[in-house]
Amino acid sequence: MEIKKGIAVSPGVAIADAVVLDAEDYRIPYKSIESDQVEAEQERVERAFDTSLEELGMLRDQMAEKFGQDTGAIFDFHMSVLKHGRLRQQILDAVAQKGHSAAYAVSVVMQSYQKRWRSMKDQFFAERYRDVQDIENRLLRNILGEQREDLARLTEPVVLVAHDLSPSLTANLNQTEVCGVAMDFGGLTSHTAIVVRSLGIPAVMGLKDISISIAGGNSIIVDGTKGLVIIDPDKATLREYQAEEARLKVFADVLVELRDKPAVTKDHVTIQLLGNIEFPPEAKTCIEKGATGIGLYRTEFLYLKSETEPQEEEHYRAYREVVEAIGDRPVTIRTLDLGADKYTQSRQVEPERNPFLGLRSIRYCLQNLPLFKTQLRAILRVSKGADVQVMFPLIMSLMELRQAKMALGDAMEDLEEEGIPFQRDIRVGIMVETPAAALQIKELTREVDFISIGTNDLIQYTLAVDRSNERVAPLFTASHPSVLKLLRDIIRTATRANVGCSLCGEMAGEPVYTLLLLGMGLRSFSMAPADVPEIKKLIRSTTLAHAERVAKRALTFDTDRQVANYLRDETRKLMPEAF
Ligand code: PEP
Ligand code: MG
Repeated sequence: MEIKKGIAVSPGVAIADAVVLDAEDYRIPYKSIESDQVEAEQERVERAFDTSLEELGMLRDQMAEKFGQDTGAIFDFHMSVLKHGRLRQQILDAVAQKGHSAAYAVSVVMQSYQKRWRSMKDQFFAERYRDVQDIENRLLRNILGEQREDLARLTEPVVLVAHDLSPSLTANLNQTEVCGVAMDFGGLTSHTAIVVRSLGIPAVMGLKDISISIAGGNSIIVDGTKGLVIIDPDKATLREYQAEEARLKVFADVLVELRDKPAVTKDHVTIQLLGNIEFPPEAKTCIEKGATGIGLYRTEFLYLKSETEPQEEEHYRAYREVVEAIGDRPVTIRTLDLGADKYTQSRQVEPERNPFLGLRSIRYCLQNLPLFKTQLRAILRVSKGADVQVMFPLIMSLMELRQAKMALGDAMEDLEEEGIPFQRDIRVGIMVETPAAALQIKELTREVDFISIGTNDLIQYTLAVDRSNERVAPLFTASHPSVLKLLRDIIRTATRANVGCSLCGEMAGEPVYTLLLLGMGLRSFSMAPADVPEIKKLIRSTTLAHAERVAKRALTFDTDRQVANYLRDETRKLMPEAF
């Protein structure tokens, strides 16, 4: 048994066999073979080695011819690893003695090989583990050829273990049997984390080397609440977690009973609880969990679902599906937040050097007006007869807001000329997720109907901490006194200006911040649908007067640790079962 600690990004417990994705998204399933298959499988190993060596020899010669001997020498290293007699023998032995399939034997032996390289003290050698990864990929390509397994074909629940997940793979997870996720990369508010949380899949990220510490077929527990991954658990641990799984189920059932009850404090203040969605089918989940509308529809996920750029009809169909599922409840459609870690980056000829500070979100849309207008037309069309509002992300200046509104005005004019109906007085809002917008909130609120605070980005930009980088994850916290002050001022200014104010960052769904935000004056929260019942329970167990006292006190502390400890204690008093 081995226990690894990472970042708890999606609560709950998953117990299943592991499936490991390597960098190329191969799935190497655990597969045992019969003794009469040993020879054939060993032959596949031998052939893969020979073909790989031939390929590498050719590559080396080509590169040497084009760029000189030094460049060609990179492949000498790969060749020397493959020629290393013991490696081939170890894999052949794994087939004969352990009854592994050729692919599985390569995967297991190469993973342990990678681990050894990675643990070398000398940085130069340690970095070479990536080459070992390349070699493994080449061997597997030559063994599996076209037979790559894909996740869609899984028939049993599995825990997915990976270095990182591509956005498109993440976008399709809901169509698989994946019941838990463990990853080397990622932080609490990375987009992979947001999606797995939306799907209610327990997950731990930022585990650094889980993908090379485990082989497919290992039994594994993901504790997404504590941020732990347990490899090959012993019997006692397994029993303990099976009991925990059952306990969580009971707690979830109790929460479901709250679905049709209002989110109202004990002193009769009604709070709006909305859902965040990425995909249209989640609209239904929002209602099932007791949300009264959608506060954030992240439309850019439409791009991650397909290889080609979505056209107006595709946008329209997706929005229509959401609006129909949600009935007469409100829906806030956010315009495309592409860039940074989403979509455009992987398709860029020259990737962004500083993705989160680069051409992302509204900036990307304003530089790609035809794409932007395609979306705006679809939003306007769907707004006819529905409670839809449009929201621009990452606004950092009045000029940007005005340009975005101008594009919306142009789209309206076009539709009008074409005689296509739409909602002319559609409500227009912005996300407040840059310190610049927070500090100019007074001016911005004069030109919008509503705002929604995007704390995932607001925290990232205020603290200068990459939201998806596990190495700095402990520094990413909503409890920082500077973040608290910004939030207090944004909420206060928007409320005074009589402009709708919601908060849709992950913070909205974290119980420890509920009292604080309520006490600061927030009356609308938007979160992953799965978080709604718990937050509702908390709201129903407190009074506004108490929340105001908690917020006031929280604002007096000088360090994030004091704030976090205080809020945790206050929340625990109200809802001990959440901890
Ligand atoms: C945010 O930044 O808080 C937010 C809700 O938007 P996203 O997570 O999609 O960047
Ligand atoms: Mg954001």
